[in-house]
Amino acid sequence: MKRINEIFESLQGEGFHTGTAAVFVRFSGCNLRCPFCDTQHETYTEMSEEDIARKVSQYKAPWVILTGGEPSLQATETLVERFHAWGKRVAMETNGTHAVPTNLDWLTLSPKEGKDPVLTQADEVKVVYQAGVDVERWCREIRADHYFLQPCSCRNTQEVVRYILEHPYWRLSLQTHKYIGIE
Ligand code: SF4
Repeated sequence: MKRINEIFESLQGEGFHTGTAAVFVRFSGCNLRCPFCDTQHETYTEMSEEDIARKVSQYKAPWVILTGGEPSLQATETLVERFHAWGKRVAMETNGTHAVPTNLDWLTLSPKEGKDPVLTQADEVKVVYQAGVDVERWCREIRADHYFLQPCSCRNTQEVVRYILEHPYWRLSLQTHKYIGIE
């Protein structure tokens, strides 16, 4: 059984797939305690993989986004296979401190300071920008096709813009869902 916080359909608000319709499967629980964590993920309902896949299949969105909390603590290759069987593509957003299923279609790695990732490769790296923290190490240590910097809870956007202008291999990721008032 998996501990599921919520399953809902919306548009991906952040990163490379911004604006794309997706079903979000939010797993409960995380192995980190980031001071800026603004995700309410602790409450949960226990669901079987079959029930999760059936629920997800009711939505039209082509993507399933496994998120949390920390989805890698619970997501398995068999769960990903079930989504594939319904014709979905599967993405995961992880802090990178734990191995992930090998059959994902997209991996977003959001490394957190103080807990180095075990993963060194991803489709995109998405870093929450905090002044004074060395974000360049993630370009050196993680191989990815896209590198995104994201303001911390929409607060330091101008600072992030200035940083990207000085380091233009980064791109800006905004939490657009917060700006337009969707989940
Ligand atoms: S890794 Fe993500 S979910 Fe976990 S505490 Fe940090 S911000 Fe929250």
